[in-house]
Formats: sequence, C-alpha cells, structure tokens
Amino acid sequence: MNTKVEKFRKSIVEMGVDAAIVFKPENRRYLSGFTGSAGYVVITEKKNLFITDFRYVQQSNKQCKGFEIIEHTNDRKIYDILNELGLKKLGFEDGFMTVSQYKDFEEKLNDVELIPLKDTLPKIRAIKDEDEINEIRKAAEIADKTFEYICGILKPGITEWEVSLEIEAFMKKNGASGTSFESIVASGIRSSLPHGIASHKVIEDGDFVTLDFGCIYNGYCSDMTRTVVIGKASDKQKEIYNIVLEAQEAALKAIKSGVTGFEADKVARDIIKEKGYGDYFGHGLGHGVGLEVHESPRLSPLGKDTLRENMVVTDEPGIYVPDFGGVRIEDLVVVKEDGCEILSKSPKHLIEL
Ligand code: ZN
Ligand code: ZN
Repeated sequence: MNTKVEKFRKSIVEMGVDAAIVFKPENRRYLSGFTGSAGYVVITEKKNLFITDFRYVQQSNKQCKGFEIIEHTNDRKIYDILNELGLKKLGFEDGFMTVSQYKDFEEKLNDVELIPLKDTLPKIRAIKDEDEINEIRKAAEIADKTFEYICGILKPGITEWEVSLEIEAFMKKNGASGTSFESIVASGIRSSLPHGIASHKVIEDGDFVTLDFGCIYNGYCSDMTRTVVIGKASDKQKEIYNIVLEAQEAALKAIKSGVTGFEADKVARDIIKEKGYGDYFGHGLGHGVGLEVHESPRLSPLGKDTLRENMVVTDEPGIYVPDFGGVRIEDLVVVKEDGCEILSKSPKHLIEL
C-alpha cells in the first residue's frame, strides 16, 4: 500500500472533495513515483489514476505502482477524462495552478466545483518516512564530502565562479543528479549578501567565504552552509563567527518535536540580538527540506508550524554586516521526539585556509 497516497486520500475525503488533481512536479513524484515532466495524478475516493501523454505511457507504467495509467490524446483530453468520472468537487493545487489553467478547468469541466487544496500536500510531505530520510542523508553526505574537497582547493586567486563549478562537478561525480539550487559562493564584502551566488570575483587573502550549497540524490535535496576565512581571521571576523556559531548550536539544542518554528528561531535570534547584531540577521532560522530545497515547515519569526518527529529542517542563522562581510552556518537535521539528528557532519570551528 502506498502510505503517501493513503494519507492524501484521507485528507481530501475529510475536506469533502470527490477527487484531487495534482501536477506540481514534486507533489506528483511524491504521490506516484513518476520522475518525468508531464502527467496528472488524480486521486479519488477509490482510485489512483495517472493521466499522461504518449511520451510517458511506458515510463509511468513502470514507475507509478498502484496507479491506473490513462493516456490523454487530442480526442480524449484531460478534461474529457475528468468529466467521465462524474465529479462534483475537485481539489486542485492553488499554489501551483496558473490562472489560465484554472480558467480552462472552469470552462471545460461540467458542473465541477474547484476546491483549493491549500497546504494539504506540503503538510503531509513535511513529515518524512525512513526511505526519504535515507535519501536526504545520502544527499547530505555528498555535500559534506564536497565541503572537504573545496577546502582543499580554496586559495587566493581562485574565483567564486570556479569554486561553484568545482562544487557542482564534485557533487555530480559523487552520485548527485544535480545541485539543489544555484550554489552560493560569496567572498570578502560579498559575504554580507545572504544570497550572493557565485560571481567572477577573485577570492583574496583575508576574505570570509560563505559556501551555501546542496545536491539532489534520488530526487531529495540537501542544503548546508559553512563560512571559512582565507588566511588568518581578524578579531572582528572571529567575533562575528563565534556569535553565529553559538546561536546555531543553541538552536540545534532547542529543535525537537513540539517546538514551534517561531520558538526555535527565537533561541538563535535572541543570542544574536543580545550581542548587538540583531539588525544584521534579516532572514528566518531555517526551512523544511525534501523533494524541494525550501518546503514546509518554516522556522522564522513568522513560523506558526509546530515541529514534528521526522521533519527535516535547516538551522542557519547568520550575521551580515554591509561593507564588511558575513557569516552563516547551516546544518540539516531530522527532528526527533527529544531533540534532533544532525545530518551535516562537516566541522563548524572557524576554518582558516
Ligand atoms: Zn543553504
Ligand atoms: Zn537553507
């Protein structure tokens, strides 16, 4: 039995819809196992349908276990197939469907009320099963190995761009199918940009270098950040680094089932505030990671979600001082009943290269 589909079916039945259509790629893959780029998952009270075009019939037959595969064609469009089901209320992904798709559905479905699914799937996806955690664990391992390799090649004269190419190539050579987002390599005063993607800047002696990257392994993402210094760290660099580290480790101790995203964030934020850098930590503490690198739950001053066992989240406070530089330290963790399991194993003391 596909427990992911059963959880989803239970939720939509509770919502009072007859069926739901899902085609956001990560949601579709989550429910069906399908890795291709086009197809609709339709879950009804009794049936699991995978509706796709000619290109993906063979692939979906192989990948979508427990699904009835239906081909849509020019003569029998997706709307015709849905109309044949005689639905009254159809759930849809309001966070994903475009306005023009919505209008098409409204126009071409006969007497079907479209009901937004809201955060039904993000909520289900937030809690990982053992297989999912193992994929993320593997993605985190590849990222750790990559950090070790990058520390060996970081030196004055190399550009941020070259470092990002090395990160990507190393991750792919070590089993990743791709990067989970465009790698951040931000050096010198650019490290004060929280999302400074690699530029052609040459890395120099005395620079902070913030490396924020991750890879995809069997569809699942990793995400980690380390900040290093090229050469000897100045007193100010050490001061900022140690505050971020203290905040990051305090939040690690706070993360466990039952704590809200707001509370976890506050633990790190209070430490940074107390040291006088509160205005320089302008983003949330972390986010969920899974098939997407940013997903539920949210750990931030606005984080209403409560952390639950087997959620996978990041802990990534930072301090960014304009015209000086910045530090972020990010670990990927699995929330447990009494704490958390840290998946990122790379060292966190200040590394001077
Ligand atoms: Zn990151
Ligand atoms: Zn992150």
